[in-house]
Amino acid sequence: SIRLENVSKQFEGSMAVNNLSLEIADGEFLVLVGPSGCGKSTLLRLLAGLEQVSEGRILQAGSDITDLEPRERNFSMIFQNYALFPHMTVEQNITFGMRMRNEPKSQHRARVDRVADLLQLGELLGRKPGKLSGGQRQRVAMARAIVRDPKLFLMDEPLSNLDARLRTEVRDGIMTLHQQLKTSTVYVTHDQMEAMTMADRIAVLNGGHLQQIGAPQTLYAHPANLFVAGFIGTPA
Ligand code: ATP
Ligand code: MG
Repeated sequence: SIRLENVSKQFEGSMAVNNLSLEIADGEFLVLVGPSGCGKSTLLRLLAGLEQVSEGRILQAGSDITDLEPRERNFSMIFQNYALFPHMTVEQNITFGMRMRNEPKSQHRARVDRVADLLQLGELLGRKPGKLSGGQRQRVAMARAIVRDPKLFLMDEPLSNLDARLRTEVRDGIMTLHQQLKTSTVYVTHDQMEAMTMADRIAVLNGGHLQQIGAPQTLYAHPANLFVAGFIGTPA
């Protein structure tokens, strides 16, 4: 598991994340929701090591990773504006992210094929990104991020730049990947329906504070406060 203990992040006097503690269980799909500016992206960047915490610590399987560089954490992060290398094929884009480990090439090959298959990219491996739809490109970005077998998969609103049809396509890809690979995931969205349908648990943030964390049905039926009730949409 990965644990945040009393983590805060301060930017020029404002607290983007305020004394936040939570644990991400192995294999869990945790969704972060909350209004714009509540600290969702900052929390992901702290987990990824792209920002340093101001206070608190981050533990992975009990060891302190607070001061580790991003590359030392073996986490993968994808953003809403995915970037692929235009001059490389889909396959080269996917394998570019793979770490050279002490394992036979055939195992690399097997993992690329598995991920491409789960994301329905098998037919597209020889194409260049310029010849792909937006949804296909986002699935390639996801394949590249997950093929390295990260300890934690971080996604910041990966569907927000897609139209409704592509959103469904990419969301289905994300859920298939998760069901098959069970990579621990933290997924940011401001879309309540997305959160309710995708999450094992939802964490609701407001003003850098964790308001509540729990299963979608728990938050829906037993919101801890009016903010959660309003955000998750319990009828009054
Ligand atoms: P959105 O839904 O709009 O993406 P968010 O929940 O991801 O919002 P963050 O980007 O984490 O919010 O920002 C949280 C707070 O921290 C905001 O008040 C923001 O202005 C501030 N902030 C974020 N990054 C920086 C930075 N690099 N320097 C200064 N302030 C920052
Ligand atoms: Mg954000």
